[in-house]
Amino acid sequence: MSALKSSTVKSSILPVYTYDQPILRQKAVQVAEINDEVRQFIRDMHKTMHGADGIGLAANQVGDARAIAVVDLSEFEGDDRHPPMTLINPVITAYSDEKDFAEEGCLSLPRYRDMVERPIGIQVRFFDETMREHHREIGGFLARVLQHEIDHLNGVYFFDHVNAIRRAMAFQKLKRISLDQVPTSYPLHPNTSRGSVRGSGAKKHR
Ligand SMILES: [Zn+2]
Repeated sequence: MSALKSSTVKSSILPVYTYDQPILRQKAVQVAEINDEVRQFIRDMHKTMHGADGIGLAANQVGDARAIAVVDLSEFEGDDRHPPMTLINPVITAYSDEKDFAEEGCLSLPRYRDMVERPIGIQVRFFDETMREHHREIGGFLARVLQHEIDHLNGVYFFDHVNAIRRAMAFQKLKRISLDQVPTSYPLHPNTSRGSVRGSGAKKHR
């Protein structure tokens, strides 16, 4: 019993799924209730994000199809205005007309960064760990990070917002990621779906 009890308070670092494992293209499943298992998973997500020096993580990035994302900008450029956030079933309900460009990276796309254009402000609805509903208007860098994470829950990568020429330039980087050839400081889930990689040479086109 004591072993069981201690295992419920300990959190673990989960391996990160990378391009182009199928779960990263899946649309997340809504969370119906919050129980101990969900709370434990959320703790594991926060620990995984921090362990990888990330500022955001979506559940499908650790192989779980539920609509959960975590964000923490508190250590990013000394930004202590934002406490760590857990977003369950998040939905962006409005976007600003004004957009800007900024560089983004992703734990699922190690060593690949690119400039991404996004609206500078959003309205977002989500539930927290106590299943309390929040409606918030968010601007600045946090708005960008939330859009990136909520994109993941819809099966979208940041490079889907990049124009075709830049995406073509990134092809070799993406290919190396899909072949598990890019080293990281955090554990990765090995890609077992390599046959689907476009242009990998593993399968001939008919
Ligand atoms: Zn990402």
